[in-house]
Amino acid sequence: MATTSSAPQDSDPRTHALNNYRKKLLEHREMEAKVKDLRMGLKELDRAFNKSEDDIKALQSVGQIIGSVLKQLDEDRFIIKAASGPRYVVGCRSKLDKSKLKLGTRVALDMTTFTIMRMLPREVDPMVYSMGMEDPGSISFAGIGGLSEQIRELREVIELPLMNPELFVRVGIKPPKGVLLYGPPGTGKTLLARAVASTLETNFLKVVSSAIVDKYIGESARVIREMFAYAKEHEPCIIFMDEIDAIGGRRFSEGSSADREIQRTLMELLNQMDGFDHLGQTKLIMATNRPDTLDPALLRPGRLDRKIEIPLPNEQGRMEILKIHALGITKQGEIDYEAVVKLSDGFNGADIRNVCTEAGMFAIREDRDYVVQEDFMKAVRKVADAKKLEGKLDYEKI
Ligand code: ATP
Repeated sequence: MATTSSAPQDSDPRTHALNNYRKKLLEHREMEAKVKDLRMGLKELDRAFNKSEDDIKALQSVGQIIGSVLKQLDEDRFIIKAASGPRYVVGCRSKLDKSKLKLGTRVALDMTTFTIMRMLPREVDPMVYSMGMEDPGSISFAGIGGLSEQIRELREVIELPLMNPELFVRVGIKPPKGVLLYGPPGTGKTLLARAVASTLETNFLKVVSSAIVDKYIGESARVIREMFAYAKEHEPCIIFMDEIDAIGGRRFSEGSSADREIQRTLMELLNQMDGFDHLGQTKLIMATNRPDTLDPALLRPGRLDRKIEIPLPNEQGRMEILKIHALGITKQGEIDYEAVVKLSDGFNGADIRNVCTEAGMFAIREDRDYVVQEDFMKAVRKVADAKKLEGKLDYEKI
């Protein structure tokens, strides 16, 4: 009689079956995990759906009036100024924390009972909102070449008061509120500000000063106010104002209405700078290519306490920058960085980055996917030729 159960020669079909069974089991478990994931996802969706339904219902049902708190009359009653103009004495929903209803808080009132139903977030100017959406990116100080002394100084001014304010309290001095970075274009001023915000993981408001005056003539002072208020609400925050000479220029008595508008903007800026707390978590970094044109009031101690010069990189600085930007490039053979740097006299950081990009372009043109020494040499000559056309500016120390 043929036995299939125990004979070793027959174990093959059994092993096969066993393997099959294991495979099925694994598949089944995977399936189960997937079903579980899907169920979780479904629950999330359900919750989101219900919330949206609630929101829609809220929008469709009782209308709400938007207003702001003017005064608290007694325990339960408030004077509210509706956005449409009239003022009402109203009650407040018991669930709301009344201590948070301060002067100016935005609230929604029930249309029929005129009860304060909820607190609303402060209205943020769209321009300031877009400034706040700026992501400093993940830039580290290691990605900045030739500015170690400047980095040290900047960290001392910005990082120390944010991380260890008690040091200043103990010694009894006021920490700096801000710093001015000045020097020729393309030397890494923006890069430095981004690196500080990214290292400290603070919020980052990037403002191109000329854009404020350009777009918002008549409104720029308000935008400045809003900007500081936004920073205060999103502390710790670093406000980076590029091209500060656009609004921080020296004031003079005569001028067109546009000049007067710029002066008003500067006055508001000075006012806001005086208003915010030394020990607060908002710090200012301003940058300019034209420090000589700035109004002295802006540079007074207590406003921008420190001025850091960001000069054109020297030979060693250029070497560091070149190595940073060449790091990610696929290279073949020995690269003589020194020879490249020798030809890059007068280059700023942006030019050196450009050399790397150009070298890569030469490689692509020759159908290679790596860069050789000759590409770098050709690139540096090309950038140097292009630079010869540029005029030179003299950056005096301030
Ligand atoms: P501008 O005054 O024109 O605004 P800037 O001084 O703010 O110029 P950045 O925008 O910071 O200059 O620099 C431009 C680019 O040049 C940077 O994105 C960076 O790639 C490169 N770069 C400049 N300086 C350095 C540096 N020291 N180390 C590494 N890269 C640099």
